Amino acid sequence: MKANKNYQNLQDSYLFATIGQKVKAYSEANSDKKIIRMGIGDVTLPLAPAVVAAMQKAVAEMGEPETFRGYGDYYGCDFLRTAISDYYKKKDAKISHEEVFVSDGAKCDVSNILDIFATGSVALVPDPVYPVYVDTNIMAGNKIIYAPGNEENNFLPMPDEGVKCDIIYICSPNNPTGAVYNKEQLQKWVNYAIAQDAIILYDSAYEAFITDDLPTTIFQIEGAEKCAIEIGSLSKTAGFTGTRCGYAIIPSTLERDGMNLHKMWCRRQATKYNALPYIIQRGAEAAFLPEGLAQNKKNIEYYMQNAKLLSATLDELGIWYSGGKNAPYVWLKCPDGLKSWDFFDMLIEKANVVGTPGAGFGSQGEGFFRLSAFGSKENTTEAMERVKKFLK
Ligand SMILES: *Cc1c(COP(=O)(O)O)cnc(C)c1O
Repeated sequence: MKANKNYQNLQDSYLFATIGQKVKAYSEANSDKKIIRMGIGDVTLPLAPAVVAAMQKAVAEMGEPETFRGYGDYYGCDFLRTAISDYYKKKDAKISHEEVFVSDGAKCDVSNILDIFATGSVALVPDPVYPVYVDTNIMAGNKIIYAPGNEENNFLPMPDEGVKCDIIYICSPNNPTGAVYNKEQLQKWVNYAIAQDAIILYDSAYEAFITDDLPTTIFQIEGAEKCAIEIGSLSKTAGFTGTRCGYAIIPSTLERDGMNLHKMWCRRQATKYNALPYIIQRGAEAAFLPEGLAQNKKNIEYYMQNAKLLSATLDELGIWYSGGKNAPYVWLKCPDGLKSWDFFDMLIEKANVVGTPGAGFGSQGEGFFRLSAFGSKENTTEAMERVKKFLK
């Protein structure tokens, strides 16, 4: 056989493995120290009671002959597709339930969606960003160009009319920088995409963390239905990182190159996917109904209190950062011009706090560092006291 040699072009993913090794080595040599982990972007609060109750009810249904269900609808159950489209209607984004495709997570959708683009497509990817966009395009044999984020543009790169591309990735609120685009900025991206005949892949995994008056979906932007696919997730917003549920929104009229992308995705999912388990879909539905939404809002507020603690500490220390508002991440500039990994080593040694080196998210991330607000209030408070002591 012949192997997909594109895989040779992937960089080894050292980031979280290296962090794990370094933390292990440090804690073995210093077993008396309490290490506080503020690195990995995983939630810590349990599922909302309304979600658990809905799943328990669904489990019972599966055990009775009258209510048992076998294979589900490839695109998701109507009740969940409707709950999601209703959620979008409340945001003034007119999405019909047929335009919502339920899946087992945003990571899979972000990767799988490349099936409907020609091999060799040009992808415009922000730098720094969630590494999945880069790696999946390399695997698919696509060409990647970068939109550099930096201190000057507050890690919100804007389109450059001279740059030609087919696929545009936007992650807002952004992982790792916590930066969020406003309406005018997203309008420029939409106009650019339409002018280029390109498609925006809009990752809204953190939309529920937005509290300011900022867009929470690309479909709040005029013309987005002509150029955008949105990919959402319940992972961070409803604690589904282990339970799994995401969705893709593809407008039914979205066309390129003589093909209807909505129909292509229908065909793709019908062929390669067999639906998310009914039990999980009932849990996900509950997360979009009033009781579940209110419970999850409380959890998000808990994390955002942590984010406030992080940004207040950096304000006090006079350290530049983005995020901390409308996003569960704080992206800080390493003090004294330190490189990301040097700051990582210093922080674990001096404060016993673990974060994520920015260089792991792209070359523009060098010299920056991500702290996550997904820990406990107690740990976040203690970590910030230690950081203050060490950096003052
Ligand atoms: C965590 C995260 C996701 C969520 O992926 P799932 O597969 O739904 O868990 C998607 N995009 C970004 C940028 C993320 O940080």
